[in-house]
Amino acid sequence: MGWTSESRYPRGVFGECLASEDAAEDDLRLAPDDRVTCPLHHRWIYRCVASPAHINAVTRHRWCRSCAVPLPVVIDEIAGTVTIVCTRCGDGGSPATTRLIAACRASLATSKQRARQPA
Ligand SMILES: [Zn+2]
Ligand SMILES: [Zn+2]
Repeated sequence: MGWTSESRYPRGVFGECLASEDAAEDDLRLAPDDRVTCPLHHRWIYRCVASPAHINAVTRHRWCRSCAVPLPVVIDEIAGTVTIVCTRCGDGGSPATTRLIAACRASLATSKQRARQPA
């Protein structure tokens, strides 16, 4: 995975982005919900948002309160779309989930942008 002994961050543009977001979050300059990198999985947020670790029934991240079920994530990397909708009621939206979708879209866009630039 490219880990180095001197840093807990992976090398390259993703590692730099992760490190700067960690620092910004510690300084209260960035809300955890607005991050495009995941501090837990060390991936772009859109790549790991489907993990159960991103479900929170209290804050309603990926959680339908009316049905009391987790919401599945559908990511279309080509189209750049992120869909998080309850399969039972066809809704399940919450402010937290809306923000999560925005972060995933931003993460998709950022990772594509970075990939086009030489490292
Ligand atoms: Zn994650
Ligand atoms: Zn529902």
